[in-house]
Amino acid sequence: MADRLPPPSSGAPAPTGPAAAVPGGIPDSDAPPQPWRQLRRVLPYAKPHRGLLLLSVLLIGFQALASNARILLLWPIVTRVFPVATSPGTPDAKAKSGDDLEVVTEQIKKKTGTLLQPFDDVVTAINRTTSGWVVEDWLPKGLPGADPVAVAAVRDHERDRYATILSVGILFVFFILVMSVSAFLEDYVNEMVRQRILMDVRKDLCGKLLRQPMAFYDAAHRGDVVQRVLDDVGGFASGLKLVFGSLPEGFFSLLFGIVFLAGLSPMLTAICVPGLLLFIPLRRLTRRVNKQAKKRQSGSAKRVEVLLQVVSGIRTVKAFRSEDRKVDEFHAADRAVYRQSMKVQRTKSLSDAATEFLNNLLVMALFVGGSWFALRGLLGVDPRALLIFLSQVGNLYRPAKKLVKDLNGMNDAMASVERVFDVMDLPPPPPDPADARPFEEIRDAVRFEGVGFAYRPGLPVLEDITFEIPRGATVALVGPSGSGKSTLCDLLLRFYDPTEGRITVDGRPLRDFRRASFLDRAAVVTQDPFLFHTTIGENIRQGRPGATDAEVADAARAAFIHDHIAALPLGYASEVGERGARLSGGQRQRITIARALIRDPRLLVLDEATASLDAESERAVQAALDRLRAGRTTLVVAHRLSTVKNADRIVVLERGRIVDQGTHEELLARGGLYARLCAMQNLGDAPRVAVATEAEPAPDGEARPDDGEDGA
Ligand code: ADP
Repeated sequence: MADRLPPPSSGAPAPTGPAAAVPGGIPDSDAPPQPWRQLRRVLPYAKPHRGLLLLSVLLIGFQALASNARILLLWPIVTRVFPVATSPGTPDAKAKSGDDLEVVTEQIKKKTGTLLQPFDDVVTAINRTTSGWVVEDWLPKGLPGADPVAVAAVRDHERDRYATILSVGILFVFFILVMSVSAFLEDYVNEMVRQRILMDVRKDLCGKLLRQPMAFYDAAHRGDVVQRVLDDVGGFASGLKLVFGSLPEGFFSLLFGIVFLAGLSPMLTAICVPGLLLFIPLRRLTRRVNKQAKKRQSGSAKRVEVLLQVVSGIRTVKAFRSEDRKVDEFHAADRAVYRQSMKVQRTKSLSDAATEFLNNLLVMALFVGGSWFALRGLLGVDPRALLIFLSQVGNLYRPAKKLVKDLNGMNDAMASVERVFDVMDLPPPPPDPADARPFEEIRDAVRFEGVGFAYRPGLPVLEDITFEIPRGATVALVGPSGSGKSTLCDLLLRFYDPTEGRITVDGRPLRDFRRASFLDRAAVVTQDPFLFHTTIGENIRQGRPGATDAEVADAARAAFIHDHIAALPLGYASEVGERGARLSGGQRQRITIARALIRDPRLLVLDEATASLDAESERAVQAALDRLRAGRTTLVVAHRLSTVKNADRIVVLERGRIVDQGTHEELLARGGLYARLCAMQNLGDAPRVAVATEAEPAPDGEARPDDGEDGA
């Protein structure tokens, strides 16, 4: 039951054949890019957070409103503070121009939209307060002999000018406060929602992946899986940012931009709006981004793959001094990602530059055209309104420009999202049949009845396997490497379903039992004593979540490992693999046996350790295994003569077929393959039986001289 992912340092390419031939793995859809379709699929994830998202959209609206309203603050400055081009003159001169002023203001009011009126009223209202703050010394005193009424009028007008400046200042501060507070809240809330959604997606993704059948992992690349869960998921964030950030921002900015510019000059605004349509064709340019980004992401997955292989096979890398070659390999993968990233960037930059160019071209056209029209007295636009308008027309085109840019980002991100949905769209594991029953006991026997299996159609690795394991008995599987022993165990554990024949318990096919309930009553100890990077106690508890500390200690005692664990400074709380809890191969093995024991399984599948344990370790492991096996229905891939001798029955496999079965003595007497295997391997105390003709690599491709980390 080796880990069937490709051995890390073997350099053998993982299976890449045509998707139809190799079931499993993550299909990369070759459909034409459909970023909007992907985006629509992202939205349901936002649903649980709609309240917060609505809040953040409102806050975006506030920001756009406040930001655009600032334009109008220039208007009172122009009309009330500097109504006509005058130099600070004498009160008399002002008094004379008083009539003109009213006329001009009236004219302007007629020419500009009505929207400015309420705004002007607000300034007037605030002026009532701010005029009290105007220092008398700032106002002209009037020449001796001047008409006091005229002087008072001029002084009132001057007071209003100063008060207007103060009021505009106050309004300005108010607007930027609204903007900043909204920006802060919006940013925070939006990010919070995005992160929560990402967690939801990652959880779904992880669940989906872990529930995939074993065949999936035979074909999947580890790097690709990691990349999709950790990196591609980020595409969701960008998609959400577009829908709940950029789109509303663009919408509100355009809306308020148009409203307030129309307040200055409806005519000029009407001329500008069609210019927005020119941005639409630019979107076409960005389509390419999606395709290129997809290639970049799968290249990036390959890079992770290379790194994972190197790190997990570090012993082999070092032993064969292939550091430099591996660095080159990694660098080559990295360079491929770089090249693809630059392609994406080229398209993005091109599109950005084109939008910027268009933006400036439009502003320039307005500037020239508007000035010309104003000069000719056409359009009925006040030149000062024109100037303010031109200085602010960017408010109209900026959101359009930004939207094009964000759409580029979206096309990029949706390539990642598509890769995430490639995983989400994997078929769910087949459900148990409706009438499936819970698995409780083995009363009679487990039987293989004419079982055949093929990983790839047409290439059977097991054929016509028929034998039985009576309740409580141990059956040993023996045969050369590659004869199908691990595959047979995998079938019993329901990692794969037989392609022919059936496996039964008390006459009922395995699929009549609920998968979960069946596996709850089965336990497996593999030759690679795999432990999780957590405490020793937790590792044992994996066998039965919720087991008490006392039960954990009992299991460890039964596996003859309790004393060693108890002697560690942190006892059961020691982290596996950390300083102080470095465990030898034999100790690891006994912990995995404790993990199986605590489950109190009805069915046991053992893959005996092939690693050379020292005699003492081996005796301890053997004693623990014997205790585990006692009274339990057991299938064991046997490597030691002692195990084989103790088995109730031995099944001899060769090239996927049973060539003989019986007891040790019977088989020896018949003098077939079994006798040859024994003779060939009978080299000492504990001859290897199963490994006959070729060295069997340790499951993770690692040279494993008893782990080399014996702390005991
Ligand atoms: P054993 O445990 O006796 O060494 P296995 O059950 O591991 O034999 O392998 C039996 C045959 O199936 C071998 O030819 C092996 O190459 C093939 N095989 C094992 N695992 C896979 C897999 N995941 N995909 C395709 N072929 C496999």
